[in-house]
Amino acid sequence: MPLRLMVITAHPDDEAGGFGGVLRLYRERQVETCVVCLTPGQAASNRGGAKSDQELAAIRRKEFAAACEILKVNRGIVLDYPDGQLYRQDSYKVACDLSRHLREFRPQVLLTFGPEGGLTGHTDHSMVSVFATLAFHWAGRANRYPDQLQGGITPHHAQKLYYATANFTLSDRQPILLSFPTASIDIGDFLEAKIAAFKAHASQSPLWPRFEENIRKGARQEMFHLAVSSSRSSAQQTDLFAGVSEM
Ligand SMILES: [Zn+2]
Repeated sequence: MPLRLMVITAHPDDEAGGFGGVLRLYRERQVETCVVCLTPGQAASNRGGAKSDQELAAIRRKEFAAACEILKVNRGIVLDYPDGQLYRQDSYKVACDLSRHLREFRPQVLLTFGPEGGLTGHTDHSMVSVFATLAFHWAGRANRYPDQLQGGITPHHAQKLYYATANFTLSDRQPILLSFPTASIDIGDFLEAKIAAFKAHASQSPLWPRFEENIRKGARQEMFHLAVSSSRSSAQQTDLFAGVSEM
């Protein structure tokens, strides 16, 4: 069985902006990748000429697919939760959806935002962190969502849960406290792919210059905080799959 990496995000463009380097890097290392994005991003302030939320959602689904292609993501899924409204959703139901994806794709490693909401502190990012963390724990238990356990689907515990983090914050945003980095991944060779994937989100083009400027300034590393692990090592890591067994 190959190694598998899953990323759970809130909006199209999170996959590129937050996780693009490691997504592309681990494909290069023959790891299978899956991104599950909870919303089609229909509440974005950059509208890309869309006349309605529905139209913007359709545009952003296509942009997400194009970004996934650049990052060579094996499986890219956009669910249909309302952008900006994740805090109003039924946690048990969202974790149910995510649990099903975890049980189907069966990643050893799961990545998502930290509960602070990442660098932007977006409420949706905080909520996706909570939902993904619940699903990480519950997908492994036969007494959670037992109706999913049919047709060959069995419980699945990923071996590691990481929260995206950084060693800097954005000065023009509300203050946040990020999780401390325990893994620092050099994405050097794939910096350009990450930028290209971010630019696949053409409706969000006003965000491009700042993103590119920040990332070229020195963010050749993506940093993560190990939130849960089935192994006991607390060493600083340079590989998200360190200590992971193929199962
Ligand atoms: Zn986002």
